[in-house]
Amino acid sequence: LSERLGGVFERLSRQGALNEADVITALREVRVALLEADVSLAVTRDFIKAVQKKATGQAVTKSVTPGQQVIKIVHDELVAMLQGEGPAERLKIDNPPAPILMVGLQGSGKTTTSGKLARRLKEREGKKVLLASLDTQRPAAMEQLAILATQIGVDSLPIVAGESAVQIAKRAKQQATLGGYDVYILDTAGRLQIDVALMEEVAQVSQIAQPRETLLVVDGLTGQVAVEVAQEFDAKVGITGVVLTRMDGDGRGGAALSMRAVTGKPIRFVGLGEKSEALEVFDAERVAGRILGMGDIVALVEKARETFEAEQAERMAKRFAKGLFNLNDMKMQLEQMMKMGGMQGVMGMLPGMGKMAKAAEGAGFDDTMLKRQIALINSMTKKERANPDLLQAGRKKRIAAGAGLDVAELNRLLKMHRQMADVMKKMGKGGMMKQAIKMMM
Ligand code: GDP
Ligand code: MG
Repeated sequence: LSERLGGVFERLSRQGALNEADVITALREVRVALLEADVSLAVTRDFIKAVQKKATGQAVTKSVTPGQQVIKIVHDELVAMLQGEGPAERLKIDNPPAPILMVGLQGSGKTTTSGKLARRLKEREGKKVLLASLDTQRPAAMEQLAILATQIGVDSLPIVAGESAVQIAKRAKQQATLGGYDVYILDTAGRLQIDVALMEEVAQVSQIAQPRETLLVVDGLTGQVAVEVAQEFDAKVGITGVVLTRMDGDGRGGAALSMRAVTGKPIRFVGLGEKSEALEVFDAERVAGRILGMGDIVALVEKARETFEAEQAERMAKRFAKGLFNLNDMKMQLEQMMKMGGMQGVMGMLPGMGKMAKAAEGAGFDDTMLKRQIALINSMTKKERANPDLLQAGRKKRIAAGAGLDVAELNRLLKMHRQMADVMKKMGKGGMMKQAIKMMM
């Protein structure tokens, strides 16, 4: 979107005022972007209509260009729609033991999310949590939850062979009451698609458990299907909220907007990985940025503006826009990262770098490593920094020794540099960085 919008906004920025034709032109591109992000057709149509009405009615503020004005309206409207009445309200889990019912298709992430949620409630709110698997369908599903529970350090309902989902739900309630639990989470079985038997079972369980919260777990990568699933589950069991999983992947999260618009139910959490801590409260701003296809460049540039010297930022922006990225740039970035919350924080904000950040994490990358890498770059000559191709064996030895580190570490740094330079090159080509930075500065 940023590429396509780039041209439109450039045109808009050359004109003095925002007229209806401008708005329509810009929104045509927004429409395509939404559909590409898997927002459903009907929702896209409504959204565009709402924005158009707002945008054409508005006078152009003096201090911004018409292009900035349109993107702000689009962005704000997206956030408003995603957010609903307010920030994702807290789960209703007073009156212990409070049942939480997890529903959704098979493989959407119900079991994983049950574990994540249990961990969150335990660690952040000090709740005593019981996990219960009602999945009588998939072999080993119950063991999967029991293992998760052990890892997290919460209790799980003992497994009794041959029970039905409804019987397990009853036993969970009993155990939760007797055991003095604050919350019990019922992890149900899914099917590959909506079917009558599944709905019937979930409805029965819901009837018995009378859950305080029924959370629909949806794979954030599924797009359109998610809307049908949400409608179906909401009609049959009445969901109170949605959890979007796999938002660590490449999906644009358009499903979030569609589900929000169609069901009116809040998106409570997003899943950002397989580990039990990878669950975050839904952040409408972030997802809006993602749907618009700009990653969190907006946030990155804003944050950078706070900490960067303006001049330095400008210089770097220009180099990035050209796809240039040498070891001097990398050093500046590494130093900047230290200020901006470390490696994970920054990489996570750049489109396409989420995976790299993960790989880095896997390789034991942390902030002490940032310091070592800066030391390695400091140990290089000016020429070497500007032209990493110079770094053959002899020089490498000298540099590593100078930093008091070994060559293997230097090689890792150089490999990472190459990867980053590649990404920069790609982004530079697309003109994405340039547009984003121009718009913000
Ligand atoms: P269920 O069938 O709905 O219970 O789904 P599971 O919880 O068993 O999850 C299916 C697969 O998706 C597992 O391999 C999980 O590790 C994975 N998974 C779940 N949530 C996430 C997430 O937020 N991100 C990623 N990357 N994987 C996830
Ligand atoms: Mg499961």
